[in-house]
Amino acid sequence: MSPVAMQELKKYQGVVKPVWCPGCGDFSVLTATYQAMAELKLDPAKCVIASGIGCSGRFPAYVNSYGFHGVHGRVLPTAQGIKIANPDLTVLAVGGDGDGLAIGGGHFAHAARRNADITYVMLDNQIYGLTKGQPSPTTMPSLVEYKKSHQPYGIIEDRINPVAMALAYGASFVARAYSGKVAQVLDLIKQGVSHKGFSFVHVLSPCVTFYPTYDFFRQVTVPVPETHDPTSRLDAITLSQTPGKFFLGVFYQHDGPDMTERMQLVKAKAGRGDIDAIAQAYVQS
Ligand code: SF4
Ligand code: MG
Repeated sequence: MSPVAMQELKKYQGVVKPVWCPGCGDFSVLTATYQAMAELKLDPAKCVIASGIGCSGRFPAYVNSYGFHGVHGRVLPTAQGIKIANPDLTVLAVGGDGDGLAIGGGHFAHAARRNADITYVMLDNQIYGLTKGQPSPTTMPSLVEYKKSHQPYGIIEDRINPVAMALAYGASFVARAYSGKVAQVLDLIKQGVSHKGFSFVHVLSPCVTFYPTYDFFRQVTVPVPETHDPTSRLDAITLSQTPGKFFLGVFYQHDGPDMTERMQLVKAKAGRGDIDAIAQAYVQS
């Protein structure tokens, strides 16, 4: 990387040094985020990174932008609220699998169906890393057997498929990356941020300490086939449910009005004036 490019990247690095375990998959996503912000020439003063709870929850502290480290499972309501308050901001929601699919699972559907113009990056390590390795909604039963030392009792629940879930909920951009392939993480974050509407970027991000899955994902991740039509939600759902494979790339993309545009439309139809005036009146009442 050229010295100029390095200098450009530093603009997006926070002053707090990451405390993640060496080798944690989250480092790739952080590096890709710096690079994506630099390549998209985002102004740090106009970016907000919201996070939930878990190892990934520390993300905002490591980026030079505005940040909101919220409570467990509430990353999506927080991010949507920020976007509604100031639609000019670029808003990233960063959270883990436990945060976004267990305690916060109910918010996923509503952020997707509102088509809020935010990018939801899910760092999925298939485990509760911060609390030392309990099974999460995406833990794979077969791997639990494999890693008996970490999960001596196994689990009795089936895993959630976050990509299939996002597609079924109506998300307008759905993609998957793997931390072991940082160039693709970068590409998909950039595409997600550039897409107008709710973008879901699922990142397979191994926890080296409690659930070391690098070898496993190296074997089972394959590119989305070139023949795949990303405008077909049905084909994307089928692809996301292929047994034994984790496809990487863009599953689905659809362009349409986002949450802010829909709100403006409703206000215009209702003949109630502009959104700022209504908000002002509400505050003063
Ligand atoms: Fe990463 Fe796991 Fe360490 Fe958390 S516990 S920082 S997820 S390697
Ligand atoms: Mg997790």
